[in-house]
Amino acid sequence: MADLTSFNEQKRLEALHSYDILDTDAEGDFDDLTQLAAAICDTPISLISFVDKDRQWFKSHHGLDERQTDRCHSFCSHAIQNPAHLMQVEDAQNDQRFQDNPLVTGSPDIRFYAGIPLLDSDGYALGSLCVIDNKPKILNESQQKALRTIGNQVIDKLLLRKNNKKLLLANKNLMESNIKLKATEERLKESEKRLKAAISAANLATWQMDFHNRQLSPSPRMKELFDFNADEPMSCEDAVNQIAESHRQQVIDSIYSSFSKVEPTEFEFPIIGFHDKKIKWLCANVQSYQDMESPNISYLSGTIADITERKLDEQRRTDIVGMVSHELRNPLTAIKAYADLVNRLAKKAEDGFLSDKMSKIDSQVKRMETLINGFLDVARLGEGKIMLEKSKFDLANLINDTEIDSLEKITSHKIIFEPAEICIIEADRNKIEQVVVNFINNAVKYSPDESVITVNCCIQAGFVTLSVKDQGMGIPLKYRPFIFDRFFRVESDAMKNKKGFGMGLYICKEIIERHNGQIGMQSNEDVGTTFWFRLPVALASA
Ligand code: ADP
Repeated sequence: MADLTSFNEQKRLEALHSYDILDTDAEGDFDDLTQLAAAICDTPISLISFVDKDRQWFKSHHGLDERQTDRCHSFCSHAIQNPAHLMQVEDAQNDQRFQDNPLVTGSPDIRFYAGIPLLDSDGYALGSLCVIDNKPKILNESQQKALRTIGNQVIDKLLLRKNNKKLLLANKNLMESNIKLKATEERLKESEKRLKAAISAANLATWQMDFHNRQLSPSPRMKELFDFNADEPMSCEDAVNQIAESHRQQVIDSIYSSFSKVEPTEFEFPIIGFHDKKIKWLCANVQSYQDMESPNISYLSGTIADITERKLDEQRRTDIVGMVSHELRNPLTAIKAYADLVNRLAKKAEDGFLSDKMSKIDSQVKRMETLINGFLDVARLGEGKIMLEKSKFDLANLINDTEIDSLEKITSHKIIFEPAEICIIEADRNKIEQVVVNFINNAVKYSPDESVITVNCCIQAGFVTLSVKDQGMGIPLKYRPFIFDRFFRVESDAMKNKKGFGMGLYICKEIIERHNGQIGMQSNEDVGTTFWFRLPVALASA
């Protein structure tokens, strides 16, 4: 009996199953071969039998109704034990291996059996082609040869069938992947169409440039924006030359920097029309990418929008703020001088009532002055006109001056100035003082009376950090990203009675950033807020 558990048997079964032949319908090609074998060997029965794990199954069963029998009764499983040989059993009744076999003792009363193993290309015997008779017999030489030849034919047909199946499957996969490719292509085309529609709806210009040879491919809209005629060539140099000189280098730097970034870079700049010499403001969006097939080739591409109208609007608004503030300053200076004069006269006349009222007028005038200066600062910042007057000074000294001033003016809160060591920075002293005072005033404004405000200054790794910490209302998380934006104010019940315009922190941020410093805050709602800025410590002069 076959060693069913052996490794080889396992492999043989895998080989058999790889043909997908078991339990398939009858096929004429195979039936022709069993018919031929039976005719040549002159037997009533001929089978193409495959030996499965527990059964033998007949792909073709000429002269027998059954399609399968138990493997333990199978003659063929004996035949495949000796794969290279034709097994002949002349009379099963005289053969010890088969005389008790129910296929011998009962239907189909097998007496004679001859089977040639069906070997696949790896040498595994999948089953056999056999001829069976119910009377004893022996095949002559030419019948044996014919049986072998027909056995080879069975194997050829099996292989052909397997290859056809493979081809069909490959074809099916190809068709499926073709369909999928096509679908991706359609989707790409669709999104390209939508992108083009969006670009044209937004009236955007597009362009592409080969970074190595500087070859620019501008869209017609880009030529229109730069005021080149449609049929006029427009090179990269031509485009750069039209950028206003004040912004040219900045634009070139931004384009170069876009190479190291994954995200697109965006920047705004003015250009001068090639023919009409008119100024336009543009907003460019640049993205770098590499040719997928040749990684050495890099491109820049992007969109350009005309933002002249928005820029002019901004400019007009800034101009108005600047003009109004400027115009308000003169009468205010006069009011201040008169109030001062009247106050002095009232003091001389020892008129307490008048003197008190004049002091109130004075403090309101000062408030207005601060506001107007704030508006003027915002207007100047918008125009890029804020000038820094830098000098080297000791920040600890500035803090000391602020301490004296604050202790004199602020009595509502306990302000602690922690000791600061000498720290020389190169900066605009007045502007840095403005930032410190703004932090302190905000801490006073947005925290309860009697609470503690701590001013700290510490030096670390070549940088000085100044912080102002309060025990106030804090800033809700959702507002924190906007806290340094122009005219931004937190909207909450706690803010209802707090006056202001949301200019202070915006101005502070601009001042610190123009000193190449950093500004930030940490806040905890109902616990308090710390505003801080960090500046480089000046290098000791030689
Ligand atoms: P203003 O105080 O005139 O509104 P700022 O620009 O100085 O303008 O401040 C902007 C906003 O930030 C304030 O309106 C307030 O909501 C919030 N804020 C500033 N400082 C603090 C602080 N120390 N504690 C809580 N909120 C603050």
